[in-house]
Amino acid sequence: NDTINKIAAGEVIENPKSIVKELVENSIDAGSDEIIIEIKNGGKNLIRITDNGKGIDRGEIEDAFKRHCTSKIQTSDDLNSLFTLGFRGEALASIAAVSQIEVISRTIDEQYGVKLVIKGGEVTLKEDIGCPVGTTISVTELFYNVPARKKFLKSDASESSHINEIVSSLALSKKNISFKYINNNNIAFKTPKTNNFINTISSLYDKDLYDSLLSVNYQSNLISIQGYTSNLNYYRGNRKNQLVFVNGRYIKHKRINYYIEAAYYTLLPKNKYPACFLKLEINPTLVDVNVHPAKTEVRFQNEELILNEVKNAIYKSLRTNNI
Ligand code: ADP
Ligand code: MG
Repeated sequence: NDTINKIAAGEVIENPKSIVKELVENSIDAGSDEIIIEIKNGGKNLIRITDNGKGIDRGEIEDAFKRHCTSKIQTSDDLNSLFTLGFRGEALASIAAVSQIEVISRTIDEQYGVKLVIKGGEVTLKEDIGCPVGTTISVTELFYNVPARKKFLKSDASESSHINEIVSSLALSKKNISFKYINNNNIAFKTPKTNNFINTISSLYDKDLYDSLLSVNYQSNLISIQGYTSNLNYYRGNRKNQLVFVNGRYIKHKRINYYIEAAYYTLLPKNKYPACFLKLEINPTLVDVNVHPAKTEVRFQNEELILNEVKNAIYKSLRTNNI
């Protein structure tokens, strides 16, 4: 059983980023409107997520860490909820199998909260504790029992930049949730609770990026494309600041990046990339969700058409601004 848990955990929990993603998605599912993400050393020494959601019932807290234990419905055709379901009751069990977890949680019906410590899947402490309504989950000693995986962790800077990306993308795609991200005791960012796309962008990124943004506004029979793209004052040697959301969900799709850049053809120096934040709304039946629910990759039907629309949308924005 221990082995099964460790193998399964390997599929789900590849790195600190995947832990952050799972825990934050649980906080979102719990109805939180304030989520604090704290990490140390790229998440290797500490990942702590604090939320003000509904909390976990004292009587259900141990079960939440068992495999296939979920309180969420599992059938839906909806793209977003299909993704939201994540690993279907696998995440907490998988994280617990390869680390030490401390969870502190209280629901509104209880006067005291409960604190639970789990190491390698075994409960080592359970006690009452005073705490606000909501849940705090701290993950330490990551991969202490899976040395092979531990060895493959990247540098602290690299792991924390992946975490930064995932938290930023969640902040940009979720309405009415404030995200605070603390990296090695420094507040990296805090986003406003009332999500206005541009305000969230401004709290996540530097002023030079923000100041360069032009709005993108494009509508066709097939697709709606809204967002921002940078003018020629801003470019970088990587694509880190190109974020694309499809029907509210952060996705990665290399060809979309290429088509965004195609609209800047000859305008930017070689190997320099614009910043771009795009929200695509497409009929969900044209998006193939038949890929691993944890992954951010998607496939489109009539991909060429969609890619050209993206390029057109950027091109239109540049032209409107005489670029
Ligand atoms: P899933 O999210 O697929 O249900 P998880 O392993 O991620 O599976 O979580 C197991 C269960 O633990 C959830 O269904 C939920 O009931 C509970 N849970 C986890 N995190 C939180 C949280 N932050 N607030 C409230 N409940 C939570
Ligand atoms: Mg989950």
